Amino acid sequence: MPIALRVGKVRLTCSIGIAAYPSQGSRRNIVEKASAAMRTVKLQGGDGFAEYDQQAADGRRESARLLHDLRCAVERDELELFYQPKVDAHTLQITAVEALVRWCHPQLGMISPDRFIGLAERYGVIQSIGRWVIEEACRQAKTWRDQGLRMRIAVNISGHQMHQDDFIEHLEAVLIRTQTPPSRFTCEITESIAMEDTLATVQTFRRLGMLGVHVSIDDFGTGHSSLASLKRLPAGELKIDRAFVTDLGVSEHAEFIANMIVEMAHALNLKVVAEGVETQKQRDMLVSMGCDELQGYLFAKPMRAHDLGLWAARDPGDAEQLFRPSLFSETSVARLE
Ligand code: C2E
Ligand code: CA
Ligand code: CA
Repeated sequence: MPIALRVGKVRLTCSIGIAAYPSQGSRRNIVEKASAAMRTVKLQGGDGFAEYDQQAADGRRESARLLHDLRCAVERDELELFYQPKVDAHTLQITAVEALVRWCHPQLGMISPDRFIGLAERYGVIQSIGRWVIEEACRQAKTWRDQGLRMRIAVNISGHQMHQDDFIEHLEAVLIRTQTPPSRFTCEITESIAMEDTLATVQTFRRLGMLGVHVSIDDFGTGHSSLASLKRLPAGELKIDRAFVTDLGVSEHAEFIANMIVEMAHALNLKVVAEGVETQKQRDMLVSMGCDELQGYLFAKPMRAHDLGLWAARDPGDAEQLFRPSLFSETSVARLE
């Protein structure tokens, strides 16, 4: 009930944290744990109660530790790019490679981006990581070009990174420095970010278009894009979200959506890539729908640059042999070894 004071009515709220003694702590730290539970209530808007949650507390401690280490990861040269090919749906020749970042933590080993990109975005570390990814991918593309491999390279761009003031200037400078033709560089931007109707997003897309880089709308199908909003983007490619590909042959709903995405994209003159293709059945269904390019473990997992070069240049087996012509047309094996 509000209390009437001279300055006006004041409503008091109460946030309560609960920790059980002795099961959740000792006499020394039980109040601290109850306070931690209370802070959780306050963070969620207050006026309620919460019990101390050991698992959540462990998760927060682990995130704090990861964040601390992540801030130094670029300087300590602990990040690495893996590359996963996209292949033409009919000829199976490589059309591009997508750069996927990995963190080689000195104690925890290889950490996948799902564990640290979100953290990096929340705490402003994504800027330095994103810049490093662009620089490293272009440097690698140049090395491949010097070896005779002309590879289109795709990089994932996070929303925070795209909204950085000097994002375009930095990208342009790196493309010039590494002599990467903009038309051979793809920015993969998720549908949810691409469809933000803010002035900053619209302007960044316009400038990307002017720069001449290729734009791909990633994880497509999960957002709420309208045809009109898709039409105004300078995108050249849509990537059907992995969830629909996984469910092909299992759910009619997924098949219906994938079909619709292909038809809509083609009506807008966009190329369609299906990601996460793991089985022959999925591949056959996507080909019959008219998908242009495919990506997934059925063809190749993400791998180190060196491995990709050797794997493409040598003859690692029957399955992979299918990739050779696309790379070989412009590749000298001797120089790759
Ligand atoms: P994404 O852009 O959707 O990348 C596709 C993810 O699916 C990759 O996971 C890839 O390894 C995995 N994948 C590919 N084919 C298959 C398959 O056939 N089956 C299965 N189960 N998985 C497959 P990864 O490398 O762990 O990356 C996860 C996400 O992290 C990416 O999703 C992307 O959103 C983000 N990410 C990765 N690298 C970067 C980066 O450099 N910058 C930013 N901002 N985000 C990145
Ligand atoms: Ca991607
Ligand atoms: Ca994706």
